[in-house]
Parts: sequence; C-alpha cells; structure tokens
Amino acid sequence: MWELQGGVVLYTSSQDHNSEKSTNEGPLLTPEISKSVREGRLVGYQCLDCGAKAIEVQAYCAKCGSSKLRIAKLESRGKVLAFTIQAVSPKEFKNDAPYAWSIIELDGGVRISGRIASIRSPHDLPIGQRVQLMRSEKSGIVFEKILE
Ligand SMILES: [Zn+2]
Repeated sequence: MWELQGGVVLYTSSQDHNSEKSTNEGPLLTPEISKSVREGRLVGYQCLDCGAKAIEVQAYCAKCGSSKLRIAKLESRGKVLAFTIQAVSPKEFKNDAPYAWSIIELDGGVRISGRIASIRSPHDLPIGQRVQLMRSEKSGIVFEKILE
C-alpha cells in the first residue's frame, strides 16, 4: 500500500494490498492502473471532499488537499493537447515507433500522458484530435485516434 512517511510516499507490500478495502478507498495503487489498462479501461482517484479526479499517485488531493481519496473510473476518451514524435524508442516499444508521446485531456478534464501508435509526422495528429484508450499489455497508457 501507499503510505506517507516523513513527507515521502512509500509503496510497501502488505496483506492489506489485495483486500477489498484497499482497492476501493485510500491512495491510488499503481497495480490498479496497470490492471485497468490491460482490461481496456482507466482508473485514477477521486477526492471525496471536492470531487476532483486525477491519475497520478498522490497522498492528497491536488485541488483541495484532502486525504480522503478513492479509486474512481476515468473517461477513456479525450483529446490531444500536445505531443512529440518519438522516432527512437525504448526497447519495449521498438516495434511501435514512430509514435507520438502525448498529453491528453480526458473528457471530464483529467490530463494524462500516453502513446499514440503510428504517428509519423505532425500532420498525422492535429491538436484537438479525439482519441480513446486502447487495451495494452505493455507498460504505460496507449491511445488510438477515433472519428466522432
Ligand atoms: Zn479535493
């Protein structure tokens, strides 16, 4: 579980990790994100005090500072805000290059970064392009372009 110790968030393995309680409340667990992406959906956290959502692992709400957080479903569609094209990639994504490394604003306002496959030039990915989450077995979050 994630714990705040002396101002540092630590990840510690414990019995509590797999319990029903730890998946439904408390700070976000990264295995939850990985699992959701493999299943083609996204989870993040939602603040129980102000309702703000985000995907980063945090001990406190970035908006209001509350520590009452729970795992929450995030929208799987959004739009591209910015990107860079990666022609040379880490080994794991060798067969995916070139791809765009993008900042995406999900419907509902949460901003996250992720890869968009098969982007060779800036013309392939207009700013504002609608995208949706893809199922992915690899690390990180992958999106694909959609027409709406
Ligand atoms: Zn809040």
